[in-house]
Amino acid sequence: MKKRCSLLIGLILIISCNQQDNPTNNNTQTASKFSIVIHGGAGGIVSKNFSEAQKEAYKQQLETSLNTGYKILENGGNAIDAVQAAIVILENSPLFNAGKGAVFNSEGAQEMDASIMNGNTLNSGAVAGINHVKNPILAANMVLDSSKHVLLSGKGAEILLEKYGLQMVPSSYFYTDKRFNQLQKLLGKDKTTLDHTAFREERPLIDDHKYGTVGAVAMDINGNIAAGTSTGGMTNKKHGRIGDSPIIGAGTYANNTTCGISSTGTGEYFIRTVAAHEVSSILKYTKDSPKKALQEVIFNQIAPLGGKGGMILIDKNGDVFWDFNTRGMFRGYKKSNGEAVIELFEKTAFPKNKIIK
Ligand code: ASP
Repeated sequence: MKKRCSLLIGLILIISCNQQDNPTNNNTQTASKFSIVIHGGAGGIVSKNFSEAQKEAYKQQLETSLNTGYKILENGGNAIDAVQAAIVILENSPLFNAGKGAVFNSEGAQEMDASIMNGNTLNSGAVAGINHVKNPILAANMVLDSSKHVLLSGKGAEILLEKYGLQMVPSSYFYTDKRFNQLQKLLGKDKTTLDHTAFREERPLIDDHKYGTVGAVAMDINGNIAAGTSTGGMTNKKHGRIGDSPIIGAGTYANNTTCGISSTGTGEYFIRTVAAHEVSSILKYTKDSPKKALQEVIFNQIAPLGGKGGMILIDKNGDVFWDFNTRGMFRGYKKSNGEAVIELFEKTAFPKNKIIK
């Protein structure tokens, strides 16, 4: 009898714990599904190159970003707001190649790109080559919200965005030693012998790649999908070079009828394959699964051209997918059924691993 009693108490405890873990069981929530997935860049991200403290720091930032976006969705907020909020956290962290901590171009300057798309209306906003707006993803959303245009670049974009009231910062705000030294290392120079004319020589783009671009995709309780991406681009990129991240259809795409996607990797290849839209089209015109569509684009289209990178995706059912052809990709997701995962390195069985609250 005693045994039976403790078994029953145990069972009740498990059920109530599960209910706390699952936000859809909360009385104030609707029963609708919602989910968010983020990335912090793909590349040669291998466990042995990171100290335990560094791994923890990346995980913590990803977790904060996920939880920030998730909370908005949990409170009935919309997917665009969740994507924006999740990306702002990563832009404000010097760990990632977006906002503070963006990589340097061949002129020793930082030029940032970002985009955001609403999968319900197909409204989109993007900015390219800016370096005075503290949070480029907010700039992209402001283009979406407040202008008739989709993509604004450079000085013109900054003048308008300042007028709209966005927070501006001096370009020195974005500086970090780590990124500056990465450029110096690539150029085979140290800081003290910095010679701007030498930056103009030809260098291979792919080998220069440094990971850290950030992106998010979310589906809210109304089934609306949004996607966004923000980046400093690629170390040693030419002044004026624009990658895939602000290009709707290449780095970012969202359509409620198919999926939302954010890409990271060598942008030229994602532009040439119109990667994010291509995945969406596969879902639209074939019966292929999101997993297969991602594999087709990453491994059969981007890789043969020499491109490397990864993509995160939420499909029209709110299910989360990702894939990449690099050693690792900073990534994580959280769903209203209580599933949550953060991973940094090579692929493991999916979904897997750390449950976060
Ligand atoms: N896709 C970005 C670009 O080409 C870089 C990256 O994702 O790491 O600008």
